[in-house]
Amino acid sequence: MPARPAWSGTSRRLIVSFVLVLLVPAIAVVWLGVRLIEQDRALAVRQLRERRDSAADRLIAGFEQTLSATERRLASTDALPVHPDDDAVVLRVRPASIAAFPKDNLLYVPALPLDASDAADAFASGETLEFVAKDYRASADAYRGLTASSSPSIRAGALLRLARASRKANRMDEALRAYEELSRMTDVRLSGLPADLVGRRAKCALLEEVGRAEDLTQEARALHADLMAARWTLDRGTFAAYIDQARRWAGNVPPIDTDREALSQAAAWIWQQWNDTPGTFKSASRRAARFGKINMTILAQPVGDGVDVLVAGPRFGQREWFETPRAIADARGLRVALADEGGQSADMERRAAAATRLPWDLYIGSADAAADLDEIGARRTLILTGLTLLVSIVGAGAYFILRAMSREFAVAQLQSDFVAAVSHEFRTPLTSLRQFTDLLSGNPDLPAAKRATFYEAQSRATERLRRLVESLLDFGRMEAGARPYRLEPRPAGPLVRSIVEDFQRDAAPAGFTIDLTIHDAGAEIAVDTEAFTRALWNLLDNAIKYSGSSRLVTVALDVEDARVVVRVRDKGLGIPRSEHERIFEKFVRGEASRAHRISGTGIGLAMVRHIVAAFGGSVAVESAPGQGSTFSIVLPVSST
Ligand code: ADP
Repeated sequence: MPARPAWSGTSRRLIVSFVLVLLVPAIAVVWLGVRLIEQDRALAVRQLRERRDSAADRLIAGFEQTLSATERRLASTDALPVHPDDDAVVLRVRPASIAAFPKDNLLYVPALPLDASDAADAFASGETLEFVAKDYRASADAYRGLTASSSPSIRAGALLRLARASRKANRMDEALRAYEELSRMTDVRLSGLPADLVGRRAKCALLEEVGRAEDLTQEARALHADLMAARWTLDRGTFAAYIDQARRWAGNVPPIDTDREALSQAAAWIWQQWNDTPGTFKSASRRAARFGKINMTILAQPVGDGVDVLVAGPRFGQREWFETPRAIADARGLRVALADEGGQSADMERRAAAATRLPWDLYIGSADAAADLDEIGARRTLILTGLTLLVSIVGAGAYFILRAMSREFAVAQLQSDFVAAVSHEFRTPLTSLRQFTDLLSGNPDLPAAKRATFYEAQSRATERLRRLVESLLDFGRMEAGARPYRLEPRPAGPLVRSIVEDFQRDAAPAGFTIDLTIHDAGAEIAVDTEAFTRALWNLLDNAIKYSGSSRLVTVALDVEDARVVVRVRDKGLGIPRSEHERIFEKFVRGEASRAHRISGTGIGLAMVRHIVAAFGGSVAVESAPGQGSTFSIVLPVSST
């Protein structure tokens, strides 16, 4: 393993700039993507709002049309927009009068028509008898005479008084008859009240007085029903008093019609406004107001010195104004709610009455707001997916390029280490060659024994150089795939023995003993002798190089399961587990080599693996730091 990290100096700068070049555009793309999503959303929301606004405008125009149509019909007498059963009424308000159409749609009116006189003078003599003389019979006779009068109002007044005097005279039957007759008199008013109403009420009171409960209930129910059907034009106070009384007598009767009650209240309010605040109905106007529990729409159209007013409840509004525009709204995917109706939600837009000139505040929104947002969401997901994909591709690309770069740097580093190591390997034998050559040439008188030793040393250095050069050339050829192997079957025992013995000679001067054990000398292996020698030599060379203080190396040859196993064992430094795989890679040197400054090139084991693989075998290591190492070459036994 090289001492320096794989990337340093220039390479680190290169990697940093590479990362920057990739990272900056990637960040820019992500930023742009996020901005794109934001803008897309904003745009979509704006488009939605614009779509909604323009649809809302058309809708409001629709409302405007239906309202104007109603307003035009307000003035006409024959094409009144209101039907008898509607929760609406048209009021024609004039300086001193107010009239309702249809009349029955109001329970009571705000103002009564001016009353004709009762011709009270006619009853003066009867009344004197009744109140001054307290002669009830005589006064009854006086009144009875007047019941035949040709004037309906005198007749009505006479009947009322006759009944009263008869009651006082305790002539209940006559009183009852008089009231009954009075009840049949329509179109006559007594002190401003319809004569028949006065008669019927008085009859009920009399029935109560005489204790005719059943007749009273029946009579009171009929009176109540007629009051509710607005049979008479009454003002509010009269109506309230009469209806309360009738309800008390009648007992169990249906509740008062709230629609008509509200309409009547509205009419009363309008009449009051007309009189108290004359400016209110000077110009055409539209408004909404609440009467009782009912929201009413009020349309006013000035005519001459008066004003025509339509008061309309929700049912009328729904039929006349909302149905069509709402159908249009539905078709356009809009939802409309009147402010008073409720049903509006936060995502709806308020269109105030003041701005639209409609009587109501409207809320307009999308019928399906969730779907609109879904559409935006879908686009967003698409953009996000695209972005994620892009970033992933850039990331993956960057990862692979970085990995390739780091490998290249590592290899470059290993190669430069290798060149340094090779130079170093050369330097040692060259130096000794040079020294011995100098010694020999500089000392012609050296004793023969000494010369022989020097020559021997020169020869060893030369041999070492030769082996080194051969080894490098071989490695080069292997790398280029140009190293041919000529496999020949050879008996493994003698071959291993001869290599070990050669090596023993080389190693002996350094004090090493190579202990060889051959268990099966006869087994044959198919090998290229020269290459096999180099492989085994490399293992032996390593064994003594990394022996530390130990001086014993053992070599054992066994045949196991039709395989020849050659084990080279030392008792040296050992190899940590983490390096067991990597030391077989070219140029890779172990921790021990650096720690103990043991020279080498890092190609020895790579060559061993290459050679053994070419013979169909394998090489393995068993080792632990401080425990020594065992390298095993395993080759198939040759079949021939
Ligand atoms: P070199 O010996 O030139 O460094 P090799 O390829 O022969 O290269 O060996 C690779 C590495 O394996 C060595 O650097 C060393 O760390 C480790 N190694 C090889 N053989 C042994 C051994 N017998 N004992 C301890 N370490 C060894």
